[in-house]
Amino acid sequence: TPPAQIRNFCIIAHIDHGKSTLADRMLQITGVVEARQMRAQYLDRMDIERERGITIKSQAVRIPWEQDGQTYCLNMIDTPGHVDFTYEVSRSLAACEGAVLLVDAAQGIEAQTLANLYLAMENNLTIIPVLNKIDLPAAQPEKYAEEIARLIGCEPEDVLQVSGKTGAGVEELIDEIVAKLPPPVGDPDAPARAMIFDSVYDNYRGVVTYVRVVDGDLNPREKIVMMSTRATHELLEIGVSSPEMHPSKGLGVGEVGYLITGVKDVRQSKVGDTVTNAGKPADTAIGGYKDPNPMVFSGLYPLDGSDYPTLRDALDKLKLNDAALVYEPETSVALGFGFRCGFLGLLHLEIVRERLEREFNLDLISTQPNVVYEVTMDDGSEIIVTNPSEFPYGKVSEVREPVVKATILAPSEFIGAIMELCQSKRGQLGGMDYLSEDRVELRYTLPLAEIVFGFFDQLKSKTRGYASLDYQESGDQVADLVKVDILLQGEAVDAFSAVVHKDRAYAYGNMMAGKLKELIPRQQFEVPIQAAIGARIIARETIRAIRKDVLAKCYGGDISRKRKLLEKQKEGKKRMKNIGTVEVPQEAFIAALSSD
Ligand code: GDP
Ligand code: MG
Repeated sequence: TPPAQIRNFCIIAHIDHGKSTLADRMLQITGVVEARQMRAQYLDRMDIERERGITIKSQAVRIPWEQDGQTYCLNMIDTPGHVDFTYEVSRSLAACEGAVLLVDAAQGIEAQTLANLYLAMENNLTIIPVLNKIDLPAAQPEKYAEEIARLIGCEPEDVLQVSGKTGAGVEELIDEIVAKLPPPVGDPDAPARAMIFDSVYDNYRGVVTYVRVVDGDLNPREKIVMMSTRATHELLEIGVSSPEMHPSKGLGVGEVGYLITGVKDVRQSKVGDTVTNAGKPADTAIGGYKDPNPMVFSGLYPLDGSDYPTLRDALDKLKLNDAALVYEPETSVALGFGFRCGFLGLLHLEIVRERLEREFNLDLISTQPNVVYEVTMDDGSEIIVTNPSEFPYGKVSEVREPVVKATILAPSEFIGAIMELCQSKRGQLGGMDYLSEDRVELRYTLPLAEIVFGFFDQLKSKTRGYASLDYQESGDQVADLVKVDILLQGEAVDAFSAVVHKDRAYAYGNMMAGKLKELIPRQQFEVPIQAAIGARIIARETIRAIRKDVLAKCYGGDISRKRKLLEKQKEGKKRMKNIGTVEVPQEAFIAALSSD
């Protein structure tokens, strides 16, 4: 297809504002997917995605459209809808010339709308503003059209009104995409350059790489080079997805499609990387490439120790499909053999955990998530800490922690509550803007560690669910952080060590000691629980001794009953972990690790 007839676009929206539904309706209206094949959220393929109603992996679909006797080829590039995947979102946006900015006509602009809009503007995309769900009785299109118009600097009348549910206004929207978005520009005679915006592992075909061609062309059986690694592959197949894969004779300037080279690991086909031709390679890669950078770490342990090999195999398999997942073996006094795993964020962690449990039938314990700390020691050496129990004590000259730039949107009545919360989380106000008289945008710089510890839930509860949050990593800052260890009978329990701000150390120590006192059953002897910073004890609780005589419960001589009871006790023992001489049921660890 000549570039003049191509339009590449994506839909950006806050979660639940109807992106998937609108995408489905477009596929149906354009005949890409027949009505009887249509099932809700055709494009959200992974089970977890459909159940949670979120898009994790993006997809691209080629859509034909007739306008004024001319046939156009629209490529709709779906973007992942969660902050953990901001980088992937930015690469999907970079593959487009324009974005449909979709806003729920009953909700108005939310934090994710703004964050995505800012990303789209950074990529110089043409924005088409659209209000969705106008069929809802609660829709207030006039009010929110004005909000959007003020934000992007257009007239309220320019904001289209659609319903992804009924299909109203959707054809007009497609016409508008053709009319308003510029066609792609590129040099057809230059060496080939194509940007990877997604790569997915397929059991049968290996890695399927989605690309947007910028210059030149790519053709079947050519040798291609990944510019970040210089690795060479043969193009076994090239084609377009509509949305099933159809091989084609090649892809030219502005076109969007997929490549298959037979590689088995998505790490060999990285999002953001540039593909070029091995025979006639380009000099410079397309800008914006970054290696995935795990931001949040957690220990994953099988509940049943004998599942350890299964867990290892499962991680090896998941890794093929997830370039951002990292892990290495780890042992914990409390939890046994497991893995320290790195994730892009909390949702990524949850997804991986859920897939391990669901697809590989594993029962897992995960330790409290933590961020990565950079520590400079007095002698100038640097340590990267991904496990709090390894955080050094003494001789530390500086600790740096990651921070994020957060965008919070809420009705203005909650400004006070939000500021109070952010302050208690060591946040720094960067700015504040009113979107309308009664809705305000607050911009904060916050330590990522504070976001990881239940920030979103607290924000929701302090604003009766009205606030929305989005954030992006934003470098690091020096902070006064210490490690708090939790000791049972004088022995540190590694899984409970945490790195916290100095002012919060006592609170954390008291909270954990109190929690463990409730959770650990009494033993034959007294058990002290202590919280410590280095050698200094900052909190203490004691579990009093008890003489546990289970047989006393059985009166008289029913020997078989006694035996049963003893068997049962032995069973119970198996799931006990010994910390020194203290027996702790595994449930106590799990309960203590779960945040409330
Ligand atoms: P996404 O998170 O942006 O992909 O949103 P979805 O497409 O999953 O939609 C979220 C919810 O809004 C679902 O329950 C949809 O059925 C509903 N929804 C989406 N579009 C419309 C619409 O135009 N009208 C109405 N009434 N509901 C809609
Ligand atoms: Mg969706």
